[in-house]
Amino acid sequence: MAELSPALKQATPVVAARGEGVHIHDEDGRRYLDFTAGIGVTSTGHCHPKVVAAAQEQVATLIHGQYTTVMHRPLLRLTERLGEVLPEGLDRLFYVNSGSEAVEAALRLARQATGRQNAIVFLGSFHGRTMGAASLTTSGTKIRAGIGPLVPGVVVSPFPYAYRLGMSEEEATEFALRELDLQFATVTSPLDTAAVFVEPVLGEGGYVPAPDAFLQGLRERADRHGFLLVADEVQTGFGRTGTFWGHEPSGIRPDIVITAKGLASGFPLSAIAAPAAIMEKAWPGSQGGTYGGNAVACAAALATLDVIKEEGLVENAARMGDRLRRGLEKVAGSHPEIGDVRGRGLMLGNEFTAPDGTPDGATAQRAQQAAARHGLLLLTCGPAGNVVRMIPPLIVDGEQVDTALSLWETAV
Ligand code: PLP
Repeated sequence: MAELSPALKQATPVVAARGEGVHIHDEDGRRYLDFTAGIGVTSTGHCHPKVVAAAQEQVATLIHGQYTTVMHRPLLRLTERLGEVLPEGLDRLFYVNSGSEAVEAALRLARQATGRQNAIVFLGSFHGRTMGAASLTTSGTKIRAGIGPLVPGVVVSPFPYAYRLGMSEEEATEFALRELDLQFATVTSPLDTAAVFVEPVLGEGGYVPAPDAFLQGLRERADRHGFLLVADEVQTGFGRTGTFWGHEPSGIRPDIVITAKGLASGFPLSAIAAPAAIMEKAWPGSQGGTYGGNAVACAAALATLDVIKEEGLVENAARMGDRLRRGLEKVAGSHPEIGDVRGRGLMLGNEFTAPDGTPDGATAQRAQQAAARHGLLLLTCGPAGNVVRMIPPLIVDGEQVDTALSLWETAV
């Protein structure tokens, strides 16, 4: 009998039978509040009726039409619609299937567009598991161990992780930008740098928002030295952080935006967006893939955009995020092992710290597993798996937030 690869280790023993809104029902009929959303994917909730209807209709019309041979209407319509929500000027789009593939595409494009090789990433970064994306990933040594040699030319600089650095946000920002300048002075010339890849909220690395001044500092350096600023919005995009894009509050405009996860409510779809002057440097045939921009996934993405707008999900993420955060801070107040509660919108983390100040992964994972036993699905991330993160579907309501908070209080 065949079995799953040990690489598919589960955080919980739940076998999902069906999903509905913010809930997962398992095969034994137990109902769970899903505060993982398939790792930030099912933002419109599980099986939103509009997404289901759009996908069903598309399945019966055209499932696949590969874009080098035939274009199809859902892809063209999605391109138009994304133009309405993307930063101004980032009006050339390219589609693949997953976050990692989109990161690969962005890395290739940055090298093609600048003729330079190096990429800067930040400590704790997560950009995916394909070889190029894994080479840009520094969170979790397990991802890179034993698969080298990795793609060369990746330089790692500190992220302004204020809590772990023991600094204020301003001090951490100054420190991280100073270290970056030091890298440029000693390790890599900025003139050899194709791009800086940044997550507007460090995701797998611990749910640490990038301060606005940090993103502004990166923008200033990218302009000064002529390299590209790539915002990896795979986890932060599509309303997750309470604004449509995670980088929005900083006021900067990235050169390339990468999006996936929340884009198509669970169908595999990802995209990169860049201005024409950059995207035109990717010559035909140098990027692509058989399934990229699949018609059913594009139809689901169009329905996702409608639902986000009609149901005010970006605003709901901001509102429910505030409510959840306030509740989590209250819980943390009586649990000294939770050293920090942080995040943006509905992308919130609870960092567990041992009395000696080191990251406490064991306690975080015990709390996450206890929460699952009480009917609340959660995930961990962070330097030692010591951050319990909460990323519910963006349709979550106040009552569901309060239920999750009382389950969390019982679990910790
Ligand atoms: N980039 C970021 C910021 C992510 O959070 C992830 C996945 O969690 C990826 C890239 C990789 O996406 P995927 O797992 O779809 O390949």
